[in-house]
Amino acid sequence: MIKSLRTAAAAVLVIASGATPVLASGATTVTASGATPVLAKGAGAGAARQTDLVALYKDLHTHPELGFQELRSAGIMAAEARAAGFAVTEKVGRTGVVAVMVNGPGPVLLIRTDMDALPVREATGLPYASTAIGKAADGSDTPVMHACGHDIHMSVWVGTARAMAASKAAWSGTLVMIAQPAEEGGGGAEAMLKDGLYARFPKPQFALALHDDSRLPAGRISVPASRALSAGAMVDMTVHGIGGHGAYPATTRDPVALAARIIMGLQMLISRESDPFQPAVVTVGSIHGGSKYNIIPDEVKLQLTVRSYDAAQQKRLLDGIARVARGEAIAAGIPDRLMPEVKVAVDINPTLNTPALAARVEALFVGKFGRDRIVPLDPSMASEDFSDYGLADPGIETTIFWLGAVKQSTWDAAKANGTTLPSLHNSGFAPDPAPTIATGVEAMTAAAQMVLAKR
Ligand SMILES: [Zn+2]
Ligand SMILES: [Zn+2]
Repeated sequence: MIKSLRTAAAAVLVIASGATPVLASGATTVTASGATPVLAKGAGAGAARQTDLVALYKDLHTHPELGFQELRSAGIMAAEARAAGFAVTEKVGRTGVVAVMVNGPGPVLLIRTDMDALPVREATGLPYASTAIGKAADGSDTPVMHACGHDIHMSVWVGTARAMAASKAAWSGTLVMIAQPAEEGGGGAEAMLKDGLYARFPKPQFALALHDDSRLPAGRISVPASRALSAGAMVDMTVHGIGGHGAYPATTRDPVALAARIIMGLQMLISRESDPFQPAVVTVGSIHGGSKYNIIPDEVKLQLTVRSYDAAQQKRLLDGIARVARGEAIAAGIPDRLMPEVKVAVDINPTLNTPALAARVEALFVGKFGRDRIVPLDPSMASEDFSDYGLADPGIETTIFWLGAVKQSTWDAAKANGTTLPSLHNSGFAPDPAPTIATGVEAMTAAAQMVLAKR
């Protein structure tokens, strides 16, 4: 009853016979060394396909992997795409997967999923919750969880690949489906582009992606008209001082007190220097300094995230952070040789949908799902590297849309009680997989068929 599909030839036969390649729900059937799609007996109906995608989702959820370590996930994506009839190349941009289906004349469409999870200890209590331990960038062990829902994205991607393969008669063009490493913290899209995504494979005129959303119930969608996700910089700051005994502050220059002044000073960049009509965020997410009650340390390290929608605004914020740090250090009597060091570690561009494509996608969804399921949302101050695919060539039209993921009953209860639901990256974030994935596959497939409509 269970049969391996490892060759494109076998996959073509499967598609032709109408059977559906699926993943068995047991985690033991899928291993890191060889993720293998299997045939379920008698599968093929829409309902069966959806169940299979939920089983796939639960398997991916139980086995999350951190950025650039997505070997198991990439193996599953590659095997599924191959089984659906795509020509698949692995290890593009380290762990990325590129799946190409050439289907007659027409435009080239890129559809992206990301694959990475987060260093978060899952607290959902779900039967398929992750207990995985991964290796952080510094080599230390860390719990890992799909707290951003990239497992939802992968499941939708597989469902879309199958649906597009099964509906080849309805579209014409080239479909390039990619599974990207390391979206969290950036670097994955860049790695794939640097590894020749647009040179070794057909270069797209259109690119689509979706992200699950904790602001919407499952079954609903939002399509940003233009502003989707903000620019996001990650900044490392080292605040130097002159250490000594905690009992003798006069013999020191205290970097802990100085760091506190800098943090409060940074708030002024938003409240007093920023145009209220230009969104901006400066968050100090990490502060580390000192070792003991009575020792004034030599330095304090801070990590910041800086968000905005505009290059000039972003530059003003980054320049302002360096200025405030230096100014506060001068005020604290820090000698010139010990001024704070400010380094921008990562700087991600804003994700701006191409208005024409976003409008077409939204109109399509309103027609397909009804106005009440397609809802407006404010632009997000989160960041993404999906923007890289469009910035690589201004001729590429891009659109990312939001896929509601919250269980309807949970949503209704939260509304009634006035409680706040867990956001993305929260250890309690638990998407409702069946309706979320079903809506995602339906929406992404419809959008792909529209872009690749026969002319
Ligand atoms: Zn995330
Ligand atoms: Zn994400």
